[in-house]
Amino acid sequence: MKCPKGNEFLEGKLVPYGNIELSPSAAIINYGQGVIEGLKAHRTPDEHIVLFRPEENARRMKISAERMCMPSPSTEQFVEAVKQTVLANKRWVPPTGKGSLYIRPLLMGTGSVLGLAPATEYTFLIYTCPVKSYHKGPLNLVVKDKLYRAINGSGGTGGIKSATNYSPTYKAVNEARAKGFSDILYLDAETGKHIEEVSACNIFIVKGSAISTPPAEGTILPGITRKSIMDIAIDLGYQVMERPVPLEELLEADEVFCTGTAVVVNPAISVTYNNTRREYKTGADSVSQKLYEMLVGIQTASVEDTKGWNLQKNPK
Ligand code: PMP
Repeated sequence: MKCPKGNEFLEGKLVPYGNIELSPSAAIINYGQGVIEGLKAHRTPDEHIVLFRPEENARRMKISAERMCMPSPSTEQFVEAVKQTVLANKRWVPPTGKGSLYIRPLLMGTGSVLGLAPATEYTFLIYTCPVKSYHKGPLNLVVKDKLYRAINGSGGTGGIKSATNYSPTYKAVNEARAKGFSDILYLDAETGKHIEEVSACNIFIVKGSAISTPPAEGTILPGITRKSIMDIAIDLGYQVMERPVPLEELLEADEVFCTGTAVVVNPAISVTYNNTRREYKTGADSVSQKLYEMLVGIQTASVEDTKGWNLQKNPK
């Protein structure tokens, strides 16, 4: 894909949280030319503030921006901007175990465009919000076919974090919630036979000591939590496979769980398909609980970070 070079990203500045001014003809509000990221800062018991793998978010934003014909900050610029923002908001990072500071980097076309063309001006901004630990409880998922999600066909934007990926899921999610489900499990758009993703998290199945997750080859978001959990699971001795996972296998699995920055590792207690509800193991001695504890342990520095995932920059 050929994209315009665009502007260089310059040093940014910290400003108090507030509304921003946009032209009515800004690319973001007319054509959705915008990409987002999401990551968290945690407070350790000894009062350090750590960021979990921010370089991975920087790399993913670059890939998303390229797909949407936008210039993007370098990895160094991205990480530095995140660090500065977190430092300025460090009093909002909750105590260990009580939550984290959610960080939302946002890159958008703010130049005016009336015809269909990439903007020539872009804005990169970051805001933060303290969030509680995610205790939604086990999920009740319902399977939906391709008709409900236009983004994950081949050549679509399912593999990037485009701002336009999310509102098309609202209708199906609202319908599912009205029927008592927590979220939707989408199938692949090509065959409708394999599991792909939940609205804003990746999916795994467990059968014995084998853990499988669909391959991130363009139709699903390559989650940073997904990648981290695969590495942790390998270290814990599980057999981890990235492969197309047929729906039948999910229905036969011992456990099903979701991963994402917001949900961390969240088990599904049930999946409903064709009005049939299948239940899964959750709880203290489940595989998903072991993986959850290890990941949160690393993120809050109570388990040794042997992989160098935490960026610990902000002492007391
Ligand atoms: N899939 C989708 C569609 C998402 O929005 C997210 C959240 N970013 C994920 C998966 C999980 O990605 P990550 O682990 O990087 O948060």
